[in-house]
Amino acid sequence: MSWVVDWLESRARLTPDRIAIVDAQTGKRWSYGQLNHRAIRLASALDAQGVRFGDRVAILSPNHVAYFDLLFACAKTGAIFVPLNWRLSLPELKEIVLDCTPKSILYHSQFKKEVKCLPISFRSSLDELELEYTQTQPKTVQIPVKQKMTDPWMILYTGGTTGKPKGVVITHKAAFWNAMNTQLSWGLTAEDTTPVYLPMFHSGGLNALSLPLLYIGGTIVIGGKFEVEKAIDVIEKERCTIALMVPTMYHLMVQSSHFTASRFPAMRVFLSGGAPCPLSVYQAFAQKGIPFKEGYGLTEAGPNNFQIDPETAATKRGSVGVPMFFNQIQLVSEGQIVNQTGEVGEIWIRGGHLFAYYWNNPEATGDAWVDGWFRTGDLGKRDLDGYYYIVGRKKDMIVTGGENVYPLEVEQVLGDHPDVSEVSVVGLPDDHWGEVVAAVVVACAGKTLTPAQLQAYCATRLGRYKVPKKIYLADELPKTPVGKIDKKGIVQKYG
Ligand code: ATP
Repeated sequence: MSWVVDWLESRARLTPDRIAIVDAQTGKRWSYGQLNHRAIRLASALDAQGVRFGDRVAILSPNHVAYFDLLFACAKTGAIFVPLNWRLSLPELKEIVLDCTPKSILYHSQFKKEVKCLPISFRSSLDELELEYTQTQPKTVQIPVKQKMTDPWMILYTGGTTGKPKGVVITHKAAFWNAMNTQLSWGLTAEDTTPVYLPMFHSGGLNALSLPLLYIGGTIVIGGKFEVEKAIDVIEKERCTIALMVPTMYHLMVQSSHFTASRFPAMRVFLSGGAPCPLSVYQAFAQKGIPFKEGYGLTEAGPNNFQIDPETAATKRGSVGVPMFFNQIQLVSEGQIVNQTGEVGEIWIRGGHLFAYYWNNPEATGDAWVDGWFRTGDLGKRDLDGYYYIVGRKKDMIVTGGENVYPLEVEQVLGDHPDVSEVSVVGLPDDHWGEVVAAVVVACAGKTLTPAQLQAYCATRLGRYKVPKKIYLADELPKTPVGKIDKKGIVQKYG
């Protein structure tokens, strides 16, 4: 099984000189052969620290090649890779460290102070490691014989959009099937290049495209901080062919004057995922004739689950497509499988790409699984052709005066208003209605909106009970560390 667990080794033998990683900020490039050497050296250094099979090793750094060094060093030693969210506060980081108790941590020098305060025995700065890579002769570290595909490879803590982050345990098997699914269903080849602007501590930056592409011999461009104009330049200069970003990034992109001037000649498709994508973004890409589609994913499931070709995506706006090749999906409502077209149900997933369990959290694990199916907590519906649409999170559904309102439907209506730049719809507690529909709206630059105007606009497009009873105008919407709209924060502020 070692070829599946340590597939960088196989890749390095097959295509040693092909470029695996590019750092867009420094211009440095690493071939598959070089990346494998770095991982071997790091595995040897971790071995010297006493890191053994099943031990956790953390990393605290902005996006960096070291994520891949450590990920593959873990594959070579049987250790478990734990990337930490660098945007967390020290107490939040401590909580995660106490949960997964890493033996060793790699850190970027900008986090020196924080790392000193974390209860971890071995701390290595990325600069020290870089020096070590050039100087030392690595000792060969044997993959432990007992290593199995079902052993954990990484623990990814969830975004915490809905509550406290949970440690999602991803096995070698799950990463393998996500790679297979993604390559087959999205047609990845060794000629593909993707930019990474999503954080690599999150499955969007790590597992969605980076790992499947490395598996097949493609190229990853680490883009650094997302600054829209620079990002557009990097995507064009590096001739990126496929990209995955969250809707807030696309929203900034389509508003930029750089977007108007750019043609993205090498780009096969831009993918949006992680949160609902406003229709205005689809329209902006369609107007330029650039293929654009939406995917649905979550840390626990791959993250990739659906496939749609850009032509169908253009006609079925808002659909995430049909299930990927090695993936089963069913919709469940009140314990019954939903067969009716258009009926809403919770999305349940079955397949080899699913996580194993939540670290130290048997209760959440028990809640998540039913007879081999993973309950996502998200609601979806299917059209006549079998194409799926995400309706929203179960937890976000608003019950107002006994009626169910899906925030996404209201967000899409308000988002279509020509003067609305961004919008989020939440349920706020109310003595009379139980909950009321509330919208927080950001107006486009130079435009003035009033709540009454927006309510009148909604009233012509939505049933009365769906029209927001409260509308707040704001300069911006709060975002989570991965760039999703922070609904929890909105409810706290306006509730
Ligand atoms: P936590 O689980 O800690 O609350 P999170 O749910 O944001 O955080 P992630 O794994 O980052 O954790 O995100 C997965 C979620 O993102 C999905 O469960 C879903 O609610 C949402 N999502 C992903 N893609 C889409 C999409 N295309 N449309 C709507 N929502 C999406």
